[in-house]
Amino acid sequence: MKATKQLAVPFNQGFLTGAETGYMQQAMTGGPMTGDGPFTKRASRLLTQIIGAPHALLTTSCTHALDMTALLLDLGPGDEVIVPSFTFCSTANAYALRGAVPVFVDCRPDTLNLDERLVEAAVTERTRAIVVVHYAGVAAEMDAITAIARRHNLVVIEDNAHGLGGTYRGRNLGSIGALATQSFHETKNVHCGEGGALVLNDDRFHDRAEIIREKGTNRGQFFRGMVDKYRWMDLGSSYLPSDLLAAFLTAQLEHFAEIQRRRMHVWNSYHRRLATWAVEHGVIQPTVPEDRSHPAHLYYLLLPDLATRSAMLSHLLEQGVLGTFHYQPLHLAPAGEKFGRTAPAGCPVTEDVADRLLRLPLYAGMRDADIDLVIAAVESYHPVRRAPRPPLACPS
Ligand SMILES: *Cc1c(COP(=O)(O)O)cnc(C)c1O
Repeated sequence: MKATKQLAVPFNQGFLTGAETGYMQQAMTGGPMTGDGPFTKRASRLLTQIIGAPHALLTTSCTHALDMTALLLDLGPGDEVIVPSFTFCSTANAYALRGAVPVFVDCRPDTLNLDERLVEAAVTERTRAIVVVHYAGVAAEMDAITAIARRHNLVVIEDNAHGLGGTYRGRNLGSIGALATQSFHETKNVHCGEGGALVLNDDRFHDRAEIIREKGTNRGQFFRGMVDKYRWMDLGSSYLPSDLLAAFLTAQLEHFAEIQRRRMHVWNSYHRRLATWAVEHGVIQPTVPEDRSHPAHLYYLLLPDLATRSAMLSHLLEQGVLGTFHYQPLHLAPAGEKFGRTAPAGCPVTEDVADRLLRLPLYAGMRDADIDLVIAAVESYHPVRRAPRPPLACPS
């Protein structure tokens, strides 16, 4: 590895709104710091308002919220769950952990979301659920996927780690599936270091979700005076975060509009100012269909090939800019091969884009000078000229 200048623009930097410290102080002195305290209530309410969902339960991570979906649906050996191969491993791990089989389906070459045209062929009599990820916060084809789910009596789960604040045909992401999961990891738009939420859009899941999240007990009902003692009722674990983390998260959610304005500015700057460079270099910018809006979760470029991506990452680093690649195909990962199954059509698009995708720095604290520096670093990269690669065929 070449010696590099000091990093001028990191890939991510957890944003602070300024209100976090005061709220955390309040949580420390105001009462118990255990879960489901006053800040948990505040943060959950803010989250349900942003999503327009009836209920949201804060969790310790999106991974744990996904684990909860597997418990809620009683998934186990003999069951299958359709998941994209192009996602973080937690999307599949949650189901494998219960003994169910994640079935990997390829992504669309334009939005990089689960390819709805391949989903029905992956459904078997064992299929119980379809999990979608709105990659980069750009919605998956929810109408087509919901229709398939209805035909086969499957539950739709949105892994909405990227999508908070995005919309699809006028509906908020996270409000479309029966269940949705959020991440408040430091790399996400809104964060508390590590955290998450399970969003419930179907009332039938509410009481059990509460029990699963509280170590399998009906402690929530006890505190509301509905039962005179609380007992072990069901399988569960400790999925609720301390109120101290909820205090941090409350500050972030209260400043959601500001965070989004800052992130959109970065995203729009990259998109507009790199458009000509992209065309000239055979680079493809993100696709955002007109019927949906995205929350500027990440900005990526699809380069012509793996060699160009590697060269470009090194070039950016030499300019003090940290770019990164992203998801490696789950169906080819050691655990994916062991616990999952690949749908009959395979996942050639996932394999292709995993090699060519490069993400640029994007965080709410980026200044205009940082944006300029990233753009200058990108533009100063002069790859060996090759014929621009045509976009992959994308019928319908
Ligand atoms: C970040 C992420 C997760 C995991 O979130 P944690 O809160 O870190 O558990 C899961 N799925 C997707 C798509 C993600 O981007």
